Amino acid sequence: IKHIGLLTSGGDAPGMNAAIRAVVCACEHYNISVTGIKAGYQGLINGWFTSLDSHSLIHSLCRGGTLLKSARCQAFRTQEGRAQAWQNLQQSGIDALVVIGGDGSLTGAALLEQEYPVAVIGIPATIDNDIFGTDACIGYDTATNTVVEAIDKIHDTAASHNRLFFIEVMGRNSGFIALNAGIAAGCSAILVPEHYQPVDDIIERFASCDMAGDAGIVIVAEGHQNGGIAELASITARRLPDFDIRVSILGHIQRGGSPSCADRVLAGRLGVYAIEQLRRGESGTMVALQHQLVCSLPLHDVIQQQPALQTEQLRVSRILAM
Ligand code: ADP
Repeated sequence: IKHIGLLTSGGDAPGMNAAIRAVVCACEHYNISVTGIKAGYQGLINGWFTSLDSHSLIHSLCRGGTLLKSARCQAFRTQEGRAQAWQNLQQSGIDALVVIGGDGSLTGAALLEQEYPVAVIGIPATIDNDIFGTDACIGYDTATNTVVEAIDKIHDTAASHNRLFFIEVMGRNSGFIALNAGIAAGCSAILVPEHYQPVDDIIERFASCDMAGDAGIVIVAEGHQNGGIAELASITARRLPDFDIRVSILGHIQRGGSPSCADRVLAGRLGVYAIEQLRRGESGTMVALQHQLVCSLPLHDVIQQQPALQTEQLRVSRILAM
């Protein structure tokens, strides 16, 4: 491997910049050229290439988002788009591609690797943590901490007015943020897409509370199976007329912010390991963390499976929510 192309793709996540820096530092360490590709696969198709050096990247280490920009690119889903991408890689003399991104980005990476003679390695980065085969994805720890901080603040005002809050957090298909932030913030109930919990269960629990609304906070993942959060709140309000019920949607603050120490360290370890695995001749894999250790596994195994919430954690969350 002589020349690496590096891009960030899909939903941005805090710690992507730390991963970019780690890849660039590792390339410099091992005397490999590195080219940044702007705006994910769109930049790969359009030839938006840029130089990167580790000294200038130190300032981005503590910033959320991605300095290489990210994008969603329809053209990369087509064979013509990927052919153009391959042509640009060839013209620039890039013989390996590092893709930092989520499940969709890794699916695109696997296709490119299958179709063209270019080494490809993926680094998992998504606040949703919904990538199979790794204990953690870059960005998830920061996002969860942001959610816990926000809920702590809402808790203060909810308790002062005896209000019951429904708080929506990100997670269309996965409940990692809701489950873990829900445990950490002491939420009264946690609704995740993976497990259906009838709204009746929640209403019954609150109905038995001494003081209306004192019961606190229900954390709801976007993709939970009870309709929209407004609907959930209005059903509850109809059934519990004495309760003062409010809705809060945390939204995009969950994506931003300075990456946590854990995310920066994870990004550093996975970024360096990705380059070391490429040097060992590996391709078509994703670097990951399993049981605290770095490892890698085939992209095909990653993209065909969904990570499951731990049943032990679900059980704990129910005990702690009582
Ligand atoms: P994320 O990587 O965060 O899951 P997306 O699912 O939007 O985000 O995927 C990011 C990009 O990856 C897409 O815009 C597209 O360019 C590429 N991609 C996603 N799925 C595929 C696919 N099945 N085939 C080819 N490219 C894909």
